[in-house]
Amino acid sequence: MTLCLRGLSVPSHASDFSNEKRETRNEKRLQSTVMLLAGDVGGTKTFVGLFERAATRPVTVDIKTFSTQQYASLGDIIDAYLVGLPAVPRLDAACFGVAGPVIEGTATLTNVPWQISAADVVQRFGVRHVGLLNDLESMAYSVAVLEPDELAIIQRGVPRIAANAAVIAAGTGLGEAFLHWIDGRFYPAPSEGGHADFAPHTERQIALLRMLTQEFGRAEWEHVISGPGLVNVHRFTHGVTPCRAADLLRVEPDVAAAISASALEGRCDACVEALQIFVQVYGAEAGNLALRSVAGAVFLGGGIAPKILPALQDGSFVRAFTAKGPMRDLLAAVPVHVILNPQAGLIGAAVYADGMT
Ligand SMILES: [Zn+2]
Repeated sequence: MTLCLRGLSVPSHASDFSNEKRETRNEKRLQSTVMLLAGDVGGTKTFVGLFERAATRPVTVDIKTFSTQQYASLGDIIDAYLVGLPAVPRLDAACFGVAGPVIEGTATLTNVPWQISAADVVQRFGVRHVGLLNDLESMAYSVAVLEPDELAIIQRGVPRIAANAAVIAAGTGLGEAFLHWIDGRFYPAPSEGGHADFAPHTERQIALLRMLTQEFGRAEWEHVISGPGLVNVHRFTHGVTPCRAADLLRVEPDVAAAISASALEGRCDACVEALQIFVQVYGAEAGNLALRSVAGAVFLGGGIAPKILPALQDGSFVRAFTAKGPMRDLLAAVPVHVILNPQAGLIGAAVYADGMT
């Protein structure tokens, strides 16, 4: 599926003649302009795109989506992407954000049975500069270039110009990253904080901790704040009581999305409680992240936050975010935003590639 096009593709209603002209123009553009290749490799979906350099933010030329599990390697996905272009682009630099830790230029993906090596991409595609980042680190690189209409406000706070920031993103898993403010610019840094130990702060959450510990041996933040995490919380709040939205959960392939839809529509009280707990725990851990980095801003990425925006904005997220005893006033001043652009990770990878040369 082509998500965004600027001159590389042809609308279906165009005549064959204009198609040919445009194809020729596109070929020339690809061959004459130095491009950046960016990728956002997730456990389910991989975005790959071409970008042109620009003063403030790399300009999107073309983006395509691939089913990660259908390919044997990142190289095969890049191959499939390049083959689909009207000409071989002149690539100056490439960068990929991947869902897993990156150790010395090699990434082991959490939910995909292959490794990614920056050196392999250099060798196979002849790109001189290749960057490999953790997916949240990549998303963090987008923060400085996002436009106001790509963000939604959860807490307005008091913006500070020279301050650290943090990104937390619930999706297939839970990702966390820091943006250190040093000498007038952000330096993103990855973490595996989503796998740190879950700390409950209400009696219900202590009971949830017990259930998770029984099931998984230990309870981590990702067991609550992620798509599969919301399914865990749903199991906890329902117990032996049948879900009143069971018909919806059966037909919807994304069970977590069905649970949040049921909760937002008020179909089932236990679904409402599940989403409430999810939002409270999300707020508490976002507040922990802000404390650990003395953040001047916190950004919520990932696929879940934009889908549950009304629940994030109803006050319970902010209450949990700021419930840190003597640090309450500090946290009440921290602006908290939801990143609405699902391609923020890809844009961040392009920003990083742009800075490599
Ligand atoms: Zn329910």
